Amino acid sequence: MEITEIQVDGYEKVARCRDEATGLHALIAVHDTTLGPALGGMRMLPYASEDEALFDVLRLSKGMTYKSAVAETGLGGGKSVVIGDPAKLKSDAFFQAMGKFVDSFGGQYITAEDMNIGIEDLNSVRKTSQHVTGLSREAGSSGNPSPYTARGCFQGARATAEEAWGSDDFSGRKVVMQGVGAVGLPFALMLQDAGAEIIVCDINQQRAEDLAREHGFTAVPDAGHHKIECDVYAPCARGAGINDDTLPELNCKAIAGCANNVLLEERHADALAERGIVYAPDYVINAGGIINVGVEVRPEGYDEDYALTRIDRVYDNLKAVFELARKEKISTHAAANLLAEQRIAAAREAKV
Ligand code: NAD
Repeated sequence: MEITEIQVDGYEKVARCRDEATGLHALIAVHDTTLGPALGGMRMLPYASEDEALFDVLRLSKGMTYKSAVAETGLGGGKSVVIGDPAKLKSDAFFQAMGKFVDSFGGQYITAEDMNIGIEDLNSVRKTSQHVTGLSREAGSSGNPSPYTARGCFQGARATAEEAWGSDDFSGRKVVMQGVGAVGLPFALMLQDAGAEIIVCDINQQRAEDLAREHGFTAVPDAGHHKIECDVYAPCARGAGINDDTLPELNCKAIAGCANNVLLEERHADALAERGIVYAPDYVINAGGIINVGVEVRPEGYDEDYALTRIDRVYDNLKAVFELARKEKISTHAAANLLAEQRIAAAREAKV
């Protein structure tokens, strides 16, 4: 196994691992550990080149620094990418080799699940490194993050509602949700409990219809759903749904959903602000899962009651973002980034 460092400006440590015996070719990027050890998932994709994988791991690890800083998880930002076809390369030995690579960071990088990486893969990683989170509850881990992400989204939706119509009362308010999956469904049920009318769509139309029948939602086709007049549009499926094509057609007062990378480009946050649509930045509102994991890596270990009180602070974090956006006359997305940078700078100063 050969581990080599790659020098990248603005990143604490980036390294490549090549292991001939198992075919492992992976990169780990630790962006910033000012606020704590760098935590971020491991994803596996058949990247066309190492450069493409490097671009991804750098972008994602920096994103984790910002997400954790705003969410006050006590963690820094990092990420790992495994290059190759998951269907061809995965084995116990392959992920044990990956574990050794993770371990070479001495706890400065802590890994978790991400795209194409499951609990079974992480169990193999765990054989060669302690620095793994997101395993099962039985293994002493914090378990499936989705219900926690949903709870954070609901708290964030309350703050968003206050910004959009001056109250967190959802009675008679209409929510259009794209994607009723592991996060979307519990989030929809919480909004419904709070009095909202729920309209759902899903690429799996049958799923949307079945859930609508079971829970009293209204199911609509996925195509054109973003044009429906509503109070809250909740993208809970995929990224890049807010773009030059959809933006002029939106008919909502606010956007609050769990999906990552909701905006195709950052400038779309400015366009939303110009249209008077309140946008809850994706990485602020969907931080419940990472906050939960942050509780797991404390020296005291995981405690669900404590985790829930921390997750409920997604409400306060969004309030802080909206206030900063108003004060600085910038988009809410830019305000979230600024809040993250302010929190990191304050921690850096306190350390000197
Ligand atoms: P999921 O796979 O359980 O659910 C996604 C749902 O969206 C599914 O029902 C799927 O059929 C539907 N869908 C997928 N692509 C679609 C499309 N193009 N159009 C319409 N519907 C589509 O996933 P999830 O865990 O609920 O995550 C949803 C989003 O939230 C993702 O963007 C994910 O990255 C993000 N997120 C999830 C978590 C978490 O804790 N699970 C945390 C942070 C962010």
